[in-house]
Amino acid sequence: MTAPELPDPTVGSTSGTASVGDGAIDAAVSLDVVEDLVGDVGADLPGAVAPEVPPDVPTGTARRSAPGLSPSRANDFLRCPLLFRLRVIDRLPEPPSAAAARGTLVHAVLEHLFDLPAGDRTRDAAVGMLPGAWLTLRTEQPAYTDLFDDEQQWDVWFASARDLLDTYFTLEDPNRLQPQEREVFVRTQLEDGPQLRGIIDRLDVAPDGAMRVVDYKTGRSPRAGYESAALFQMRFYAYVLWRERGVLPTLLQLEYLGDGQIVRHAPNEPEMTTFETRVRSIWAGIEDSARSGDWRPRPSKLCDWCSFKAVCPAFGGVPPTVPEGAVEAAIGVAPTVGVAPATA
Ligand code: SF4
Repeated sequence: MTAPELPDPTVGSTSGTASVGDGAIDAAVSLDVVEDLVGDVGADLPGAVAPEVPPDVPTGTARRSAPGLSPSRANDFLRCPLLFRLRVIDRLPEPPSAAAARGTLVHAVLEHLFDLPAGDRTRDAAVGMLPGAWLTLRTEQPAYTDLFDDEQQWDVWFASARDLLDTYFTLEDPNRLQPQEREVFVRTQLEDGPQLRGIIDRLDVAPDGAMRVVDYKTGRSPRAGYESAALFQMRFYAYVLWRERGVLPTLLQLEYLGDGQIVRHAPNEPEMTTFETRVRSIWAGIEDSARSGDWRPRPSKLCDWCSFKAVCPAFGGVPPTVPEGAVEAAIGVAPTVGVAPATA
């Protein structure tokens, strides 16, 4: 499927691009996408799980909002039901990681780069924003302070964040762009289903109203045939925007800073209908697990990056008991048989 270009000034250069077609989420995940799952900001990261509630709503069982689903948590459930349980229901803390910190840092710089006037959004300006953004990040998340054993480690990490910004400037010229919104929290309530929620990195709207959804990835692009998990996330955003704003985005664009690739996809309405069916099916699976207490682990190559390996029965661990009321609070249904022990 060939994605149409948006007219200037919304569109930048198009080097290193690929368009992708249809496909369900892969049950099997290649090592190529590990980099993305581990190296991308927030949503997919140990130690940096994306908020399932609006940023202004305090977390905690007593004050959670309606049961909701983000693309990352949907991917978690498909990847491993136990992982989903421990993140969403038990809400076990996860240790911070250097990859998570780097992803968050680079996203913060790319967000605030557009605070500068067009013409000033240079590579040097972006790199110059890194130290301040890092200070802010460390203040907001003090755990990041202990990520590095020595200055040399920090230097290498910091240089890798700079490299990602360098790559960004090979993909597009931010001086030619004027995003309409950045870090956009979007949500829509699915009738008889969960609230769908997510945070979009950037929304570009052309003069003719054509909308482009942009997501930065600090990992590498997926191998051919393994794009569907990333595409699921972008379809998710397209679907929410379509429902809430009545406009289907013209283009979904993933910018992979790990290897300088852009993946583009042009969604259509029949695809959105199929997507809704898919999301409902995933949510039905989550509700089934919530009722039955069957959150069995699904080991894969990604287990090496899982924060919960020590308590995972697939690796000889014992998961904690589910906190009382946590299933209802997170999923909105009550367990019918108690929470079964998670076995491999
Ligand atoms: S270690 Fe693997 S199987 Fe166990 S919870 Fe994590 S992802 Fe699931």
